[in-house]
Amino acid sequence: MIKEFFRKRDINVCVVNTGGCNGCDIEIVSCLAPRYDIEQYGIHVHNNPREADVLVVTGPVTLPWKNRLKEIYEKTPEPKIVVAVGACALSCGIFKEGHVCGPVDKIIPVDAKVPGCPPRPAEILDAILKIAPDAIASKEKILKKRKEGVKSTV
Ligand code: SF4
Repeated sequence: MIKEFFRKRDINVCVVNTGGCNGCDIEIVSCLAPRYDIEQYGIHVHNNPREADVLVVTGPVTLPWKNRLKEIYEKTPEPKIVVAVGACALSCGIFKEGHVCGPVDKIIPVDAKVPGCPPRPAEILDAILKIAPDAIASKEKILKKRKEGVKSTV
């Protein structure tokens, strides 16, 4: 049933590492492996914000990443759903005393948080699956509005 729901609409996830140790990113990559197979839900992981429905952000937001993260958020089309993954993204974690300006929710709005250092792939997958129906609903609304706009101008 859940697979049917997700197959109706694909969800594009853009992963952004804002200066973490890559541990969280490895767990995200594990979501693509046959054990978790995130693509069975129609969820595609890449690094293109212009095509993303969901931004998955890892890392503590180091100083060079502050403006870059804002730019990526601006480039992301609506519904602009953000999932912060890992202790660093949530509270700067082990990088708290370093040159960081995070956590992520200080820089951009965050819709879901996945704690852990690093979180398990199942927890990351669970967070994306919980947030995805909202992303799909918003996306459908936007597409409908666009279609209606096109009709009214014809
Ligand atoms: S939460 Fe842990 S695994 Fe993830 S980036 Fe930070 S230190 Fe690395």
